[in-house]
Amino acid sequence: MHITANFDAGNIDVINTDDKNDIQLAICPDVGGEFFQWFNFRLSGQIGEQYVLNILNAGEASYLEGWENYQAVASYDRQHWFRLPTSYKEGKLTIVAELECETIQIAYFAPYSYERHQDLLAAVQVHPLVTLEHLGETLDKRDLTLVKIGDGATHKRNIWITARQHPGETMAEWLVEGLLYSLLDSDNATGKQLLDKANFYIVPNMNPDGSVRGHLRTNAVGTNLNREWQSPSLDKSPEVFHVIHKMEATGVDLFYDVHGDEALPYVFLAGSQGTPSYSDRLAGLRDRFSDVLKLASADFQSEFGYEIDAPSEANMTVATNWVAERFDCLANTLEMPFKDNDNLPDEEMGWSPERSIKLGEASLIAMLAVVDDLR
Ligand SMILES: [Zn+2]
Repeated sequence: MHITANFDAGNIDVINTDDKNDIQLAICPDVGGEFFQWFNFRLSGQIGEQYVLNILNAGEASYLEGWENYQAVASYDRQHWFRLPTSYKEGKLTIVAELECETIQIAYFAPYSYERHQDLLAAVQVHPLVTLEHLGETLDKRDLTLVKIGDGATHKRNIWITARQHPGETMAEWLVEGLLYSLLDSDNATGKQLLDKANFYIVPNMNPDGSVRGHLRTNAVGTNLNREWQSPSLDKSPEVFHVIHKMEATGVDLFYDVHGDEALPYVFLAGSQGTPSYSDRLAGLRDRFSDVLKLASADFQSEFGYEIDAPSEANMTVATNWVAERFDCLANTLEMPFKDNDNLPDEEMGWSPERSIKLGEASLIAMLAVVDDLR
């Protein structure tokens, strides 16, 4: 039996593999040591055998509620991701795998690889309305790429979408993939109408360094990008620095920042209610966006979510709050579960890439519902 995480977005520390009924593992923390929860590794063994994997430091992970009713994700072909029997007890996450093939990949959520990221950029750039723009370099010297869609006409609304500020939240890039392909599908009337009315600025992966390194939440130097929006720097958070620079040039009329939540088993929005300039206009737009998204996707709901910030008590270092205040625009964080949507549970898959993709498609309908009134 053999375990490796020496690949793109891999993360596991192998402590002891002597007993296949007590394989001892640990998750490697992000640089800086503050965060960890993402794991991603491959186990090779014997077909028909059962392997019991214990992640011994799960009790020190960033979100302990994240392990409650959580089932690890696995795949034999790296296309279809299903759930494995998983339990959490006394600080230990136990995953049981009975092998149907010699190797199985096991992860916190279905990975979205750096290669797939390149494939996505390459696939969309052949569309006549798409331009890829190099916004700048990350600290590991990777490209930070913006997908621009539209002619940039100033009478059109400017819609900004960012994903994977937190690199372990891979469902965010799955969603962007669905949204992009749907938006560019010439048979999709919603996309066509939106492109008549809006320019799109989409960053499918805000944190490529953290993604490749197998981080949960931070970039190459351990910075949580979603706490950097008030004062980004080239040393600590060039990703945010470059995106804000571009936003200042284009303006922002709608901002959609896509994330995953470790604990809550629901899809929900977090808005900018606590920002100093929050207004009835923004509240009205937010309500309409939320109502239409509910109709467009039964996976979305507005009953469960984060506590709403009191007036003027928002954390202004967070992207959604900073952008809402700076551009007086509708700004939403979308959260998807790592676990499942408890309103529509799927025992085999849980929340999945496929459902994230569909939610990306549905998000366009909510954008169309508000686009005329964004300014
Ligand atoms: Zn996040």
